[in-house]
Amino acid sequence: MKKINNKLSSEQKLVLFEEGTEAPGSSNLNNEKRDGSYHCINCGVKLFESSTKYESGSGWPSFYESLPEVFETKTDYLLGYARTEYHCKNCGGHHGHIFDDGPDPTGKRYCNNGVCLVFKEKKKINIFILKDLVICFLFLKL
Ligand SMILES: [Zn+2]
Repeated sequence: MKKINNKLSSEQKLVLFEEGTEAPGSSNLNNEKRDGSYHCINCGVKLFESSTKYESGSGWPSFYESLPEVFETKTDYLLGYARTEYHCKNCGGHHGHIFDDGPDPTGKRYCNNGVCLVFKEKKKINIFILKDLVICFLFLKL
């Protein structure tokens, strides 16, 4: 199934639907360290938790594990040897390749094109607002 989101840039379409690859080191998600989750830019499905992201040194955002059942894989020979390509199960968009040189506990490296991902920061309870509410409440009681 392929549903292409019209808001995608031409580079995003090239990577997602023509199995292109972005230039290494080009994604600002390489340096993203905040708590949150990574979603498919085409369809919005959640693919990775930030807790599984690690610095692989490859120049692409790397994860040692995806969420369960979000990807389908196939073998491609675009570079003349077998690689495991993975794509979003929901929309069919190509995201990257899986290699066997990842860290524990899985030993896998999901080498993902940053242009295919949207990062969503985990919402934290704002303690400053909470403090103000408590002060207001105490004030009203007096
Ligand atoms: Zn998708």
